[in-house]
Amino acid sequence: MKHASFDPSCGICRGNADAQALPAGPLVFENRLWQVRRLPAGIGVPGWMMLNAQRHVPGPAHLDDAEAANFGPALRHFELTLERVTGALRIYTAAMGESFPHLHVHMVPRYETMPNDASAWGVFELYGATQRGEVAVDEAEATRIASAYRDALAASPPPL
Ligand SMILES: [Zn+2]
Repeated sequence: MKHASFDPSCGICRGNADAQALPAGPLVFENRLWQVRRLPAGIGVPGWMMLNAQRHVPGPAHLDDAEAANFGPALRHFELTLERVTGALRIYTAAMGESFPHLHVHMVPRYETMPNDASAWGVFELYGATQRGEVAVDEAEATRIASAYRDALAASPPPL
C-alpha cells in the first residue's frame, strides 16, 4: 500500500505502493504495518522473504510505539509460518538498511542442505552469488513456497 510517509526516492516505498513493482518481488502479505514479499525471480534461495515496514522508517531504532509493540509478535508469526511452510531448520534474520533507508528484514530459510554448503554469513552471500549467476535458484520451488506461504498467511495472519 502507499503509506502517508511515501518517499518517491525510496525503492522500498515504491515497492510497498505497487504490488507489481520491480525490482521488488511479488507481494505475499500485507497489513497496515507490514508487507512481505518474496525476492525477485532468480535471487537468493527458495523461501527468501523480505519483511518491509509500510512506513518509511530507517530501522528498528526508529519504529513508532505501535510498530515496536507489534514487531515481535508479527516477526515471530511470519518466521514460524515460514519455517513450517519450508521445512527449514530455522529462519535467518537480518536488517541492514543499506540499499534503502527503509526497514526491510531478510527472512531466510536455513535448510539442512544449502547451495555451496553455505551456512551463517555465507547464506547471505548467496544473494550476490545468485545475482552474478554463480548459483542457480530453483524457481519452481521458489514459486511453490511463495504460494504456500501466501495461503498460510491469508488463512492465519499475524496479530495486529
Ligand atoms: Zn521508504
